[in-house]
Amino acid sequence: MNEQQIIETENRYLANVFSKKPVVLTSGKGALLWDLNGKEYVDCSSSYGVAALGHCHPKIVKAIKTQAEQLINCHGTYYNNKRAEFIEKLINITPPGLNKAFLSNSGAESVECAIKLARKVTSKTEIIALMGSYHGKTMGALSATWDKKYRDPFGPLIPDIKHVAPDNPDKIREAITDKTAAILIEPIRGEGGIRVPPDGYLQKVQEICAKHGVLLIFDEVQTGFGRTGKLFGCQNWNVIPDIMCLAKPFAGGLPIGITVAKESHMSMFKTGEHSTTFSGSPIVCAAGCAAIDVLIEEKLANKAALNGKYFKTQLEVLAAKHKIVKEIRGLGLMLGMELRYEVYGILLKALKRGVLLVDAGRTVVRLLPPLIITKPQIDYVITILDAVLEEEENERTNSSGTVSN
Ligand SMILES: *Cc1c(COP(=O)(O)O)cnc(C)c1O
Repeated sequence: MNEQQIIETENRYLANVFSKKPVVLTSGKGALLWDLNGKEYVDCSSSYGVAALGHCHPKIVKAIKTQAEQLINCHGTYYNNKRAEFIEKLINITPPGLNKAFLSNSGAESVECAIKLARKVTSKTEIIALMGSYHGKTMGALSATWDKKYRDPFGPLIPDIKHVAPDNPDKIREAITDKTAAILIEPIRGEGGIRVPPDGYLQKVQEICAKHGVLLIFDEVQTGFGRTGKLFGCQNWNVIPDIMCLAKPFAGGLPIGITVAKESHMSMFKTGEHSTTFSGSPIVCAAGCAAIDVLIEEKLANKAALNGKYFKTQLEVLAAKHKIVKEIRGLGLMLGMELRYEVYGILLKALKRGVLLVDAGRTVVRLLPPLIITKPQIDYVITILDAVLEEEENERTNSSGTVSN
């Protein structure tokens, strides 16, 4: 199929739920991707944070190839060597006390499991989530997701989920009732615009939870795996939740969801109360073992902290130069550039010039490069962004005489 045929075929036969960009990607290595025509791109999206190790990391490729010849699938009702190896590696890096996990296939599933577990452990029903949060699109996770454009067409959603204003512990305190099972929080809100909470907020929430016998769930689907400069986002504030949701990068690009909890909590699930057919597939676990090995051996959390600091400083230079930039936010390599306008045009302009970016809401450019991105690649991205911002600014100035919407 040629480029046109590929695009038409996807559009014809796939549900049109993605905001598609006009590019056909066919291969990748490290932080680079290539399209059908051989054009090169620097990936600053990592497919929304999945490709933390970059694309086709040799250790991931080898692990998948080797395991593919051994055993691809093995139901959770049987034991498997790779699954045991993976879960041990995982529990070795999770914060102390979080030592029993359920394996699934996506971020949304990891949240579903957390919601069910919180209800089971507490025998209560209510979940408090934050305005601006994103937890996925299956019915339970969707009920906890904030944006009305995702929720409104699909009601009634699951009951007893409410949203409170973020960054203010009093809002949580006021919302807790004798029905409250858990508070569900992204340590840094991703889709919500790369919002870093004020220092002290998560500690306060934890104290409130402890006082009221309410469980604290952190959705670390985006912030986990070194992204924010620590292995897990919560470690930036030394707060350990009762339940933690993980997914995107944890199997080096293969689908995975992980819900990890205290043993005493996770043990409340009785046989059959929760399961999924692909839970802990050997091939996913083999890739997951390699992913965790690379994360630790290559000290990627440290790298994310250092390169993130550099990247953020360079973005701040751009912000000072271009009036259309409102603010730079983020921690480690989870960065956001808020503009005074919608960012979709910026994403397309950057794509044309060979940089892949994603958005985080209407007005925020989200930068989630692979953690292995190099300084020269960051410099290249900054050069492109500089040109793109200039182009956007010129367009807006030329069409109206002043920089305006
Ligand atoms: C992406 C994401 C999810 C949903 O994960 P899926 O794999 O798309 O279901 C949930 N929570 C957060 C914080 C995410 O970034």
